[in-house]
Amino acid sequence: MSTSLEPSVAAAAKYEPVIGLEVHVQLLTATKIFCSCSTRFGAPPNSNVCPVCLGMPGALPVLNRKVVEYAALAAMALNCRINETSIFARKNYFYPDLPKGYQISQYDKPLAEHGFIEVPSDGGRKRIGITRVHLEEDAGKSLHEGFSDAAEKTAIDLNRTGVPLIEIVSEPDIATPDEAYEYLTRLKEIILYTGVSDCNMEEGSLRCDANVSVRPRGQKEFGTKTEIKNVNSFRFIREALVYEIARQIEVVESGGKITQETRLYNANEGKTYGMRSKEQAHDYRYFPEPDLLPLVVDEKWKAEITKALPELPEARRQRMVKEYGITDYDAQVLTFSKSLADQFEAAAKAAKNPKRVANLVQSELMGRLKAKGVEIEQSPISMKGVAVSADLVESGTISGKMLKDLYDLCFERGKDFPQVYDEEGRPQQSTDTSALEKIIDEVLAANPKQLEQYRAGKKTMLGFFVGQVMKASKGQANPQLVNELLIKKLG
Ligand code: ADP
Ligand code: ZN
Ligand code: MG
Repeated sequence: MSTSLEPSVAAAAKYEPVIGLEVHVQLLTATKIFCSCSTRFGAPPNSNVCPVCLGMPGALPVLNRKVVEYAALAAMALNCRINETSIFARKNYFYPDLPKGYQISQYDKPLAEHGFIEVPSDGGRKRIGITRVHLEEDAGKSLHEGFSDAAEKTAIDLNRTGVPLIEIVSEPDIATPDEAYEYLTRLKEIILYTGVSDCNMEEGSLRCDANVSVRPRGQKEFGTKTEIKNVNSFRFIREALVYEIARQIEVVESGGKITQETRLYNANEGKTYGMRSKEQAHDYRYFPEPDLLPLVVDEKWKAEITKALPELPEARRQRMVKEYGITDYDAQVLTFSKSLADQFEAAAKAAKNPKRVANLVQSELMGRLKAKGVEIEQSPISMKGVAVSADLVESGTISGKMLKDLYDLCFERGKDFPQVYDEEGRPQQSTDTSALEKIIDEVLAANPKQLEQYRAGKKTMLGFFVGQVMKASKGQANPQLVNELLIKKLG
């Protein structure tokens, strides 16, 4: 993306961006946070509502236990400490899709604090601090489009009011748009592994607001920040930050001042636009929610929740690199989703030689996928299929060359390995000694020069002969057997 705002390299180098992200994640509970209405996405407008989530006077909220468990699980996965006692608070503001006139959130005593996410940075790793993870209810949705007449109208759908959210607030530790992108990618991956959200950005299950400021390099105090809201992909957030940083540097360089404000990103133009000046916390008049008791997560409950904590992606990658001898890159690909990593490990563990499964994925599968431009999730050969083929090689039933040919057929036909293996009549490599000996005689007769060299002491010629015999057998010979027979024949 190119923007019209590109401060000179010299000007850009004088400044250092500071970025902090606020991420809202919708929890996958069946019912809302304070009532038993369904959270299902896509239901007819205003069908999943009741007096509690509509904010009728006198209706009382009752906290959903599952919401607390999901939120705590996510917080733990983000290395946060769970506060034994946290407090719900009212955040007061007027908005048409907020019928109560306030949102129940948490303020000075959030559910969890002091976490971090590690991101790759400069060839090493960097910790981005997580200030807090707190619980809150979602607001409704204003619909500005889809009306038959041209008049400007807005409709309100309150199905989303009271849907459970966690807000994950980062420390201003992020130094570049790329780091912001990495942070979000890791965050999403971790949350997906815990299973508490589907993190579907199109459906609004994951939303991110990006705070950004610039300061002269070496200055301690932060500059004034702006907040970019409602950006609907990680890529656009990165682009929006690139633009916004350049804009701020321009303003400051030309002697201007940054106004603290909320800005919107227009992805078509690659620009941000000022929307409104940002409210200060005191404008919200936060106060403790009188209709809800303090939330207590005691040690016993915490221990129960901890049991549901899966092995997290980074730890899993490190273990897989060690356990299967694969590269960091392949571990990254294989842990793309928890389900893929589970499939791989289940297949590898059931195979005779787990490392061979990993090797085949690395040496035979990845390249073919890449050549075809197919993601591993759409691979014609499943992890189970790789394991079946690995066992066939391991037992000597098929040769490496045969496996390669069979993989090619799988990709041509878009079918899994076991099926193609059957279709091909379950071929086996040749272990017929007399047939092989005949081929060996032919090969030796056809290559007198090489034979002479071998006899003169050039033992590396053995490899050449093995290769020739394999070729003559169309890859169907057992290489080990060929080796043995050749040595015997050559004396
Ligand atoms: P606000 O009161 O405006 O919501 P917070 O202090 O709660 O501000 O911070 C909100 C987010 O903005 C956090 O992720 C924080 O790390 C980040 N942040 C705070 N100050 C700055 C700054 N000067 N520049 C960039 N990001 C900042
Ligand atoms: Zn309800
Ligand atoms: Mg804040």
